[in-house]
Amino acid sequence: MEEPRVGKVLLSAEAIGTRVREMAADIARAYEGREIVAVGVLTGAFVFLADLVRHLPNQVRFTFLKASSYGEGTRPGELSVTLVGETALAGKDVLVVEDILDTGRTLVRILDILRQSHPRTLRTAVLLDKKARREVDISADFTGFSVPDEFLVGYGLDHAQTYRNLPFVAVLNEA
Ligand code: 5GP
Ligand code: MG
Repeated sequence: MEEPRVGKVLLSAEAIGTRVREMAADIARAYEGREIVAVGVLTGAFVFLADLVRHLPNQVRFTFLKASSYGEGTRPGELSVTLVGETALAGKDVLVVEDILDTGRTLVRILDILRQSHPRTLRTAVLLDKKARREVDISADFTGFSVPDEFLVGYGLDHAQTYRNLPFVAVLNEA
């Protein structure tokens, strides 16, 4: 298959697999056998989520949320969050699973909304962290890799809805 805009591979499938297993071990230790409600942030987190949870020994329930921004240059108030599936989060140990932390605005908004459901604990697992782009003070409880400020595709991350199924993370080349 021709992938003309897929540039340099930043993280190989092997490197991601190793790191995801390490993250699962950290998460399992932090939750000490308790049930986890994993909240996957659609759409980009679905690949990471699926790989991560298969290495967790805990009981895991799932729900998903869709964070949509309106137009370009989105300000925080313009982000809408819709829960899909199980929404009973009160008293639960909730783990938000996200593909990438960029400005941080999406995750801050998601956490604000989930807090209103009064989970027992609320933590975050993020595969990629673009620290240089942070605009709000937030860091994930579990982070896979720090990445440079480049537009990345693969392993769930898209460009115009394509490339999500690439098994590695690569830099998107200019058109
Ligand atoms: P934030 O609110 O932290 O700026 O936005 C995070 C969201 O922006 C991610 O969930 C993801 O959808 C998108 N995003 C940020 N950086 C990248 C990137 O390099 N590639 C892709 N495909 N999406 C990104
Ligand atoms: Mg996202």
